[in-house]
Amino acid sequence: MVTYKKLPGEVLAHLESVAEIAGYLWNKEWIEKSSGNISIDFTGLFSATALKAVGEEFPYEFPKEAAGKILFVTGSGCHLRHLVYKAEEVSAIIFINETATAYSILWGGKKAGFKPTSELRAHLKIHLFNEVNNTGRKAVVHAHPTELVVLSHHKLFKDEAAFNHALWKMCPEIKLYVPHGISCTNYARYGTETLADLTLAGLKTNDVVLWEKHGALATGADLEEAFDYLDVANKGARLLLLAWSSGFDPEGLSPEQLDEISRSL
Ligand SMILES: [Zn+2]
Repeated sequence: MVTYKKLPGEVLAHLESVAEIAGYLWNKEWIEKSSGNISIDFTGLFSATALKAVGEEFPYEFPKEAAGKILFVTGSGCHLRHLVYKAEEVSAIIFINETATAYSILWGGKKAGFKPTSELRAHLKIHLFNEVNNTGRKAVVHAHPTELVVLSHHKLFKDEAAFNHALWKMCPEIKLYVPHGISCTNYARYGTETLADLTLAGLKTNDVVLWEKHGALATGADLEEAFDYLDVANKGARLLLLAWSSGFDPEGLSPEQLDEISRSL
C-alpha cells in the first residue's frame, strides 16, 4: 500500500504519471530487470516546514550547485516495473542538504538498503543545466528502446545527420515530435562521468540522446513529455527496421517534404 498523504498536489500528480509511464515502459520491454532510471526535479514544491522535519542524512558527494535541490529518483538495483504498485519501495524523493554533502529522504526509499540510481550524477547534471538555462524541463528518463538500441549497432549510427534523416523520413510525426533529433553518443560505460558529460552535450542540441550499444535518454517538462520523445524516436527506428526486414530500402519522405514540416513547426 503506497502512502501519498501530506505530499503537495503537484508532486502527487507527477507520481501518478510515474506509475502510468512505468507501466508503458515495462509493456514495451524497455526496462528489463533493474534497467532504466527516472528522476524529476521537485525543487520548490515542498514547504519550508516540511523540509525542517527531515530525518537521517546519507553522505553523498554532490556538486555544490546541487545544494537544496529536491529530486524524485528511482533506486539503484530496483525494478522500475514496481513503480506501478510499489513506488514507495523502489523510488524516493530526496532532499540535498545545504552543503551538498548528504541527502535525506522526504518520501519513499522503503526497500532495505535503498540507494538512488547509479546514474544520479548524470541526472543531476541535466537538472542543473535545465535550471540554469530555464528550459522548463523537469523530468529525465533512461530506458532501452529496443529498435533504437538495435540501430545504435548499425554503421548509420556513425553519421548523425544520416541517422536522423533515416528516421525522420519514415513518417511526418517523427520530424514533427522529435524536431531536434537524436544525438548519437559514442559508447561509454554506464554510471561514468564520461557518459554524463556526453549525455549533457547531446541534450543541448537534441531531443534524445542515444547511447551506442546501450539505450536512450530524454528530458521533458514532465515524465510523459520525456517518454514521448523516446517513444516517437523509437517508432522511426522500428519503421526503418521493419522495411529493411521486409527486404526493401524505404523511399522515405523527400528532403523537400521534411523541410515543409520543419517550416510548419
Ligand atoms: Zn541502461
